[in-house]
Amino acid sequence: MLLSNRKMLKEDVFQLGRKQQLYAGALIKNQGLNSDFTAFETLNPFDHSVIGKVQSCDESHVNDAVKVARETFESGEWAGLHPAERKAAMQNWVALLTEHAEELAALDCIDAGKPIAECLATDIPETIQTFAWYAEAIDKVFGKVAPTHGDNLALVVKEAVGVVAAVLPWNFPALMFAWKVAPALAAGNSVIAKPAEQTSLSAYRMVQLAYQAGIPEGALSLITGFGEDVGKPLGLHNDIDMVSFTGSTEVGRLFLTYAAQSNLKGVVLECGGKSPQVVFDDVYSVEEIADDVLSAAFWNMGENCSCGSRLIVHQDIKESLLAVLKRRLQDWKLGDPQDPDVSIGPMVEEVHFDRVLSHLEIAKQEGAQLIQGGKVSDLGAGMCIEPTIFDEVTPEMTLFKQEVFGPVLAVVSFATEEEAIKLANDSEYGLAASLYTADIRRAHRVSKAIKAGTVSVNCFSEGDISTPFGGYKMSGFGGRDNGLEAFDQYLQTKTVWYAN
Ligand code: NAD
Repeated sequence: MLLSNRKMLKEDVFQLGRKQQLYAGALIKNQGLNSDFTAFETLNPFDHSVIGKVQSCDESHVNDAVKVARETFESGEWAGLHPAERKAAMQNWVALLTEHAEELAALDCIDAGKPIAECLATDIPETIQTFAWYAEAIDKVFGKVAPTHGDNLALVVKEAVGVVAAVLPWNFPALMFAWKVAPALAAGNSVIAKPAEQTSLSAYRMVQLAYQAGIPEGALSLITGFGEDVGKPLGLHNDIDMVSFTGSTEVGRLFLTYAAQSNLKGVVLECGGKSPQVVFDDVYSVEEIADDVLSAAFWNMGENCSCGSRLIVHQDIKESLLAVLKRRLQDWKLGDPQDPDVSIGPMVEEVHFDRVLSHLEIAKQEGAQLIQGGKVSDLGAGMCIEPTIFDEVTPEMTLFKQEVFGPVLAVVSFATEEEAIKLANDSEYGLAASLYTADIRRAHRVSKAIKAGTVSVNCFSEGDISTPFGGYKMSGFGGRDNGLEAFDQYLQTKTVWYAN
């Protein structure tokens, strides 16, 4: 059954994973669905049941989509609309997304193994809010008049960049789609989205709803498939003006080389992290901060770019904090992500599961002390890993340096503020950080000293739609997601000079 024909009912949400009849594929103007396509199976990572088939696109699809996107951009069918008309179309889309919120939540749950409770409470509401926020921004973009000599008039105006490709990761499928597509489309660009091969379903459904809402088909295309087959041709295409990428630092780096080898297209990268959580001994109470520390480390099974995977804690409170963390983890239920009480689902796929397990082995071999978890549950296909804590980690260890992207927390202790800052900054990444202290002056000093794109004080947060999100150092390049900063990066600046 095609997703487009599906009307979700509440009771279906928890059954969808068993249906085995969904199909997702390229959505490119003038290319109808036909049975003649190469496809791969998309699996439910919890029990490895086949959810359905996803079209495996290639360079020819990229070329078709770019041609359509370019024609649409130049025709003004989307870019040339009155801002109020673009806004209205996006608001129609928001209404349809809201109507289909449960369905989208269910799709991300079965496709990525994300707990349904979080998909319903966080991922999809934030996805919808992202579209609503950028729709609202469309008719609030102003240019400037430069302070030139009175005989001249110089206007500084903003224009859409042109054709933008969005290359996406699997960990927050709907939300990452929104973070890229919403501002790029709102700014008037023609957008080509490429979901991660593991998680194409919610993107497919959202693009269908976009067309239903009145977004022109040429202004938004979807190409499903693998990185080498679709991501690389997008990166190398000479008629794409900009690529916005979220994923690993390794692949992000490739997009810079693709740009250098082709047309010097703009590149924005949101990449990996190894974010510190710094806990000082003056916190009011370890009980109060424990849930935030655990969320930072284990939310979304640690498959989170801003995962607070390094706990840097003052030596005098380490034991008491760890005791509370271990006790509270008893409440984190492992299992089928379609169960609303589950907070730890499976790793997204077998290759990734094996990679996370190898990190556990390496940590043990290098002398880290396993104090919590470390086991694999035999539920489903056996890919749920217990939330795991290693103590006595040192900066030389792999676990301190490398992004695991799984539920694994590395603990290291410190004695002085200076040492804590040094440890926090001892990373090639700089995406996010949390610090916990009751001393406001220390909060100012340390938040300033930590090299990260987002620093949360006495909490774990990525901010919200109004605040830019992105990384220092090798966590990012060239821009930010969220906030008006993201909107602005999908626009370019032109000077128009009038001489008297
Ligand atoms: P990934 O880099 O493997 O894949 C990301 C995308 O790139 C996918 O669509 C994939 O198909 C494509 N791709 C893979 N190889 C390619 C190639 N050779 N050429 C072109 N495209 C290619 O990342 P992932 O495993 O999907 O996601 C996990 C990573 O994403 C983690 O490192 C995580 O930290 C990062 N991430 C960062 C943020 C952020 O905002 N900074 C948010 C979410 C995830």
